[in-house]
Amino acid sequence: MKKHNFSAGPCILPQGVLKKASEALLNFNNDDLSLIEISHRSKSFVDVIEKARSLALELLGLENKGYKALFLQGGASLEFLMVAYNLLNKKAAYLNTGTWSDKAIKEAKEFGEMVEVGSSKDEGYTFIPKGYSIPEDADYFHCTSNNTVAGTQMKVFPKTNIPLVCDMSSDIFSRQLDFEKFDLIYAGAQKNMGPAGTTLVIIKEDILGKVERHIPSMLNYQTHINKDSMFNTPSVFAVYVSMLTLQWLKDLGGIEFIEKVNNKKAALLYNEIDRNSLFKGIVAKEDRSTMNATFVLTNKGLTETFDKMWTEAGINGIKGHRSVGGYRASMYNALPLYSVQALVDVMQEFERKVITE
Ligand SMILES: *Cc1c(COP(=O)(O)O)cnc(C)c1O
Repeated sequence: MKKHNFSAGPCILPQGVLKKASEALLNFNNDDLSLIEISHRSKSFVDVIEKARSLALELLGLENKGYKALFLQGGASLEFLMVAYNLLNKKAAYLNTGTWSDKAIKEAKEFGEMVEVGSSKDEGYTFIPKGYSIPEDADYFHCTSNNTVAGTQMKVFPKTNIPLVCDMSSDIFSRQLDFEKFDLIYAGAQKNMGPAGTTLVIIKEDILGKVERHIPSMLNYQTHINKDSMFNTPSVFAVYVSMLTLQWLKDLGGIEFIEKVNNKKAALLYNEIDRNSLFKGIVAKEDRSTMNATFVLTNKGLTETFDKMWTEAGINGIKGHRSVGGYRASMYNALPLYSVQALVDVMQEFERKVITE
């Protein structure tokens, strides 16, 4: 039986998607060729990437609204730099909510003045700063919607007249937001959309062309827009699996449907963390992520017992990030509710065991 996979990324994908993807490796479209041995310019593959791009916009409700969807390479980490390269003339504003925001800030600093409008770094990123103000003369404002490592999530986004840029790597397609508020959204595929190797970038074309510097072709969003995301060879397999996952989500009922499931999963686990005296959540309750739940044992001495129990129950990937410790259960779209129930069952069994011994 397949394990209950709480891995933070790369992470669980729908079983049906994995099956279709493995079939395509041997014989794609009944062409008697593998998906990964045909030209990326063949009609078979161009159809795939076009479908992936249009599904992404459709699911976010951004069709015909001036947005382009691109499948690029270099991970979300390259976007840290590309965003600044393409948008930062003099000054940028960033909200520092986690290790990934911090890395984005480090890259952007190479390009101009940096205003950190708020930060929870000194408190271990255990909450989302609030009440900050954004300088309206900055070229853009950058934030991270979900902090994969610490387990916090922005529930509200600021109103601002400057372009709003968001790293949504670990919660894109997981909840409904007013996506039209954003001018540029990026997300590494491997958290909620597909395998590692491609990054989705959703961009409003009219924010480009405003910096004075020369931008190398591969780092220029306009290049990729002009070439429909086919300036060079895309990660064909990663794009294909992302397309299948987006199609899976659409068939289920889209973001509206999956958000309800995600809320149920998160409520189930957080209720147990709060109820069970052997566990304690790490971050501020109002900022808790529905995707990545972080928690610790109240008695560290019981680590070995608990670890043995969840491992034996077929649970994978709940060890916390090395920088935080404790546990992190990632509950991305493809993780079924019964997997969360399996984890909660182990937590309750653990409680019974500790109390009776
Ligand atoms: C994983 C992650 C990244 C880094 O993604 P790569 O594709 O490995 O570069 C950036 N931001 C967030 C929020 C992430 O979760």
